[in-house]
Amino acid sequence: MTYHTRAAWGAKAATESRPISDSLRGVVVHWTGTLVVSPLDTVVAVQTYHQQTKGWWDCAYNEYVDLNGDVWEGRGLMLRTGANGTLKLNKQYVSICCLMGPGQLPTDAMVAAIRERIAVVRHFQPQATEVLGHLDIRPTTCPGADVYDLVKRRAFEPDSTITVAPSPLDPLPYAPNPPPVVQPLDVLGALRAEVDELKAWQVAHQAIHDG
Ligand SMILES: [Zn+2]
Repeated sequence: MTYHTRAAWGAKAATESRPISDSLRGVVVHWTGTLVVSPLDTVVAVQTYHQQTKGWWDCAYNEYVDLNGDVWEGRGLMLRTGANGTLKLNKQYVSICCLMGPGQLPTDAMVAAIRERIAVVRHFQPQATEVLGHLDIRPTTCPGADVYDLVKRRAFEPDSTITVAPSPLDPLPYAPNPPPVVQPLDVLGALRAEVDELKAWQVAHQAIHDG
């Protein structure tokens, strides 16, 4: 896992900031919701959009995680997020944003990195045990069906071992072969036919001898 600091990705300075609450409830998982080809280009574009178009202080997210499992610093874990939709929710939850959109699937590396970051949040604030999808707290489709499914399965708990793709060691789903079609052997029938043939032969030969 590589941690890309703001300096490393060339973040603009925040125009304002607030410290994170010391009584967090947990973490909200988001996604960018756009096809992410280059995580670097995306985090730069998101900051530009949030600062210039939306007029916000900074990019909204505390951190981003990409499909390779790299972490990209947003506001960082020491400052209040702007991503959750209301001031109250921004005070209650850290935001972690998956760098992916429709058509992209979460990876085990991404899931592992999110677990690590949630463990870091809990290290500083052990009471912050909730892990929610954005749609749990706001009317939105964020973080998308696949990431949300992982939220519901508690795959982001730091001690979870849930994998995104089935492991090659997992048993295949049980699909029995159709029962073989058994043709019952008609042994008696075959014998009778043989006996009938012999009788017919004997009758024919008898006729010859008698003749
Ligand atoms: Zn969101």
